Amino acid sequence: MATKKERNGLIFEKKTLVNSKTFHTPTMMLTYSFRDNNPRPWLKIPNCSVMTNAYDILQNGRLEKRVRDKGIHKELELKNEICVMDSGGFQFISRGEEEDIDPLRIIDLQNASKTDIAVGLDYPILQDFSPEKVNELTKKSLENIKLSTKYIRNGIEVMPVLHGTTQEEIKKYFVKVKKISDFKIWGIGGLVPQMKQSSTSHTRYFNIIDRVLEARKQLNSINEELLLHVFGVGSPLAGLLFLLAGADSIESISWIMNAKYFLVYQDKIGARKVSKQTTMCTTSVKWNEYNCSCPICSNEDLEEIERKMKLGGNEGFKNRAMHNAYVYQQILVEAKEAISEHRLTDFCKEKLGNHRFFKGILRYALEKVEKYD
Ligand SMILES: [Zn+2]
Repeated sequence: MATKKERNGLIFEKKTLVNSKTFHTPTMMLTYSFRDNNPRPWLKIPNCSVMTNAYDILQNGRLEKRVRDKGIHKELELKNEICVMDSGGFQFISRGEEEDIDPLRIIDLQNASKTDIAVGLDYPILQDFSPEKVNELTKKSLENIKLSTKYIRNGIEVMPVLHGTTQEEIKKYFVKVKKISDFKIWGIGGLVPQMKQSSTSHTRYFNIIDRVLEARKQLNSINEELLLHVFGVGSPLAGLLFLLAGADSIESISWIMNAKYFLVYQDKIGARKVSKQTTMCTTSVKWNEYNCSCPICSNEDLEEIERKMKLGGNEGFKNRAMHNAYVYQQILVEAKEAISEHRLTDFCKEKLGNHRFFKGILRYALEKVEKYD
């Protein structure tokens, strides 16, 4: 008889009370940025959760006012979906603006927006930073978690973000954050800058899996029910591996980014280009293996789907983004089902076992999960 760990890795279904709502996990959050043309998949796809960004909102005075006046849920037309508001530390820092942000301004916006979860303002550590700068930013991030704990109100949950490039650093960071308060949901950051690099090597993923496992281990030392969110997983197929390693929530903006670059997501395969208009060196959609029942593709023949996906301008962009969001959610729906049937490991083997890039990482994740104690 296989053990629980052998069948489902380190994840199990959880129902967590967040801002008087039930947050069902595992979940794939769709990162949303406020651009006029970005579609809102949650209007058509059930069970989405959404990640917004304070930096984004603060760039636009009129938007900020609306979010403050009516709240983020009304602004986005969310019904029961869980909404997270990230601070935008990554955006501030990548534009060299970290000196300009007032953490209290972010907190004030998070309170006014009545978001369900507010991420503490944190400063991601980029690889070219000196040890002095790393120390200084770490200190500031921890101070900001304290500020959030003190000033975030209205039943909003504070999510602290763990930073560190190694397991040891994650553990040290955790010990410091644990002293600040009891948190229900914890983030693990620092993944996006690495994912952005042009070559996504196996070792980079191995390192992320190690850090997710370490974070899970630390959280479990308090309570197994605590939620772990992984920022910026890139692709939902990669996300499955983080679920195995104990993440409850994963998130990506790639559903939009891919759409911009004329890439559509294919289950078990990944992002594929539909048109020569993209400069990305990706191979083309495998139309012979194409099978999708999203609001854009369902009940259409392949020729019509191809036409819709290749369209330029807003219409094509929206088609691809909606399709991508649906495929991302669908992979999670299936993963959830697999978890409830105690076969997530088999499910991951089915999805990734023949994938030319992810199969090696799957093997690594399974070995690590097996050794986890
Ligand atoms: Zn589709």
